[in-house]
Amino acid sequence: MCGIVGYIGNNNAYDILIKGLHRLEYRGYDSAGVAIVSPEGQLNVYKSMGKVSNLEAYCKDKNKEGVIGIAHTRWATHGEPSDCNAHPHFSEDGNIALVHNGTIENYKVLKEALLQHGCRFHSDTDTEVLVQLIEYIRLTNNCSLLDAVREALKEVVGAYAIAVIEKNNPDQIIAARKSSPLVVGIGEDEMFLASDATPIVEYTDNVVYVKDEEIAVIRRGEPLKLVNLENQEAEIDVKKLKVSISELEKGGYDHFMLKEIFEQPRTLTDCIRGRVVEDGRRVLINGVSDNKEKFINAHRIIIVACGTSWHAALLGKYLIQDMCRIPVEVEYASEFRYSNPVLTSNDVVIAISQSGETADTLAAIQIAKKMGAFVYGISNVVGSSIPRETHSGTYIHVGPEIGVASTKAFTGQVMVLTMVALAIAELKGTMTQEQIAELGKVITKIPDLVSQTLKLNDKIKHLSLIYTYARNFLYLGRGYSYPVALEGALKLKEISYIHAEGYPAAEMKHGPIALIDAEMPTVIIAPNDHLYEKIVNNVQQVKARHGSVIAIVTEGDTEIRNMADHVLEVPEVPECLTPIITSIPLQLLSYYIAINKGKNVDMPRNLAKSVTVE
Ligand code: GLU
Repeated sequence: MCGIVGYIGNNNAYDILIKGLHRLEYRGYDSAGVAIVSPEGQLNVYKSMGKVSNLEAYCKDKNKEGVIGIAHTRWATHGEPSDCNAHPHFSEDGNIALVHNGTIENYKVLKEALLQHGCRFHSDTDTEVLVQLIEYIRLTNNCSLLDAVREALKEVVGAYAIAVIEKNNPDQIIAARKSSPLVVGIGEDEMFLASDATPIVEYTDNVVYVKDEEIAVIRRGEPLKLVNLENQEAEIDVKKLKVSISELEKGGYDHFMLKEIFEQPRTLTDCIRGRVVEDGRRVLINGVSDNKEKFINAHRIIIVACGTSWHAALLGKYLIQDMCRIPVEVEYASEFRYSNPVLTSNDVVIAISQSGETADTLAAIQIAKKMGAFVYGISNVVGSSIPRETHSGTYIHVGPEIGVASTKAFTGQVMVLTMVALAIAELKGTMTQEQIAELGKVITKIPDLVSQTLKLNDKIKHLSLIYTYARNFLYLGRGYSYPVALEGALKLKEISYIHAEGYPAAEMKHGPIALIDAEMPTVIIAPNDHLYEKIVNNVQQVKARHGSVIAIVTEGDTEIRNMADHVLEVPEVPECLTPIITSIPLQLLSYYIAINKGKNVDMPRNLAKSVTVE
């Protein structure tokens, strides 16, 4: 949540900061703000509620000169989205400005103490407490900004990525992190700072990922320095970025979401590359083969995730149980962390997160590690916290996902889980070489089959017009299609704000059937699998109550075609691979319904990508 950008160098900081905020806007868009020290030594802070474009309009006639600055795009946790709660926050004497991503859990106690010392507050945020605390320590101890930040952070309970600048010392940015991401970009005579690498790629590919409880001291004309809270220097590990600018732009599509939906043939190719080889006969997942014993001897696999990743996790359960005959439990990371979980060293925990920074999932990982479980991460962002914190893992390699509603990351996660399951099955001998090769061969064809499925685009666009003004939707599926139903419903909710529920189709009769009438469309995911005949009954039950049915079926289907109001035919694949195919029309359906309603699909209200707060 929230995006932080910082710049120090010889170029105009404002332009770089604003461009960076646009790149990070997917992380939060409640408000935006910048703080720049002008050549005359003024600390100019400008902020505005809403999107970065509002801030730009506000700044139009302002003095934006300066070669050092910090900026923020907010996803509010403490205090409503408003101008005064927008970051940067600044100290009472106007000398220090700070931006913050995360939450200060003990902010009330700190605030009370500061109030008693005469500090005054101007916002409802937890963040302002931090900047006032830094100022208070700085003035009381008459110390440097670095020392004041170090001491202040020792008092803080919670999660933070911060960047701080000072009017009286316009040649340094002090930045720090704990449980929220932060990257420093090292250019020539300039340095950049951001929540992820996307604002940095166009200037340099040399980056340093700041670690938990490390403070980055970024000074003009000096090399980057990292220290811990005790001021001991840490090693600088410069990494090379592999992201290209074109991956961060819309490439001719109206929205990132549509671009990302259409990218899936390529992203799935990237995801499979080097992993399903020899025409599908071999599945190579290093994270699994390097930890053979852990997987062979696992008594149980627990998959922890949130949101869309949780739906992928549910599919992981079906895949691993089917292929490897290992019992699998799926937990919301946010529940797992507080559920007093029972784990042993015979358990394997798989943690899934697109960003690799999801706060709840990270917390679940810490608990699992503490209890002796082997922890395996599945994420998209190279160098993010989850790959660093887990014992081993697999990247999905689908490239940056900017649209807030996840699409290509979901299919990438499901593909990785399929390959992980096959790799374990091979080690355990729960599938024959022939069975593995048969599935492996189809996996290599999946990108083409997804391309074929995307040809439904025009039909879905047209269909969406009929259902744009529906107020409720029901999504039903069974077996592998049940998590697909959940994901389809979530996609629609997220971007169109239409209430949608996903349900296992057979559960409909235990409650949701009461909702069905002529006003309530039901989307039924009914590929040709071993539960097909069962789901035919569910279609009948909906039709008997005058509900309209949109069915996702396998090409050539005749039975449901005769009952449903609309059918969307997808190519035939083995049952365990159907989710990757059937989720494509559902992504397009939600996209077009949201577009028809005039919604901002890339930045849906109240949401943000990369949920780094609890
Ligand atoms: N907790 C801070 C606030 O509400 C920062 C939230 C964020 O990460 O954007 O302002």
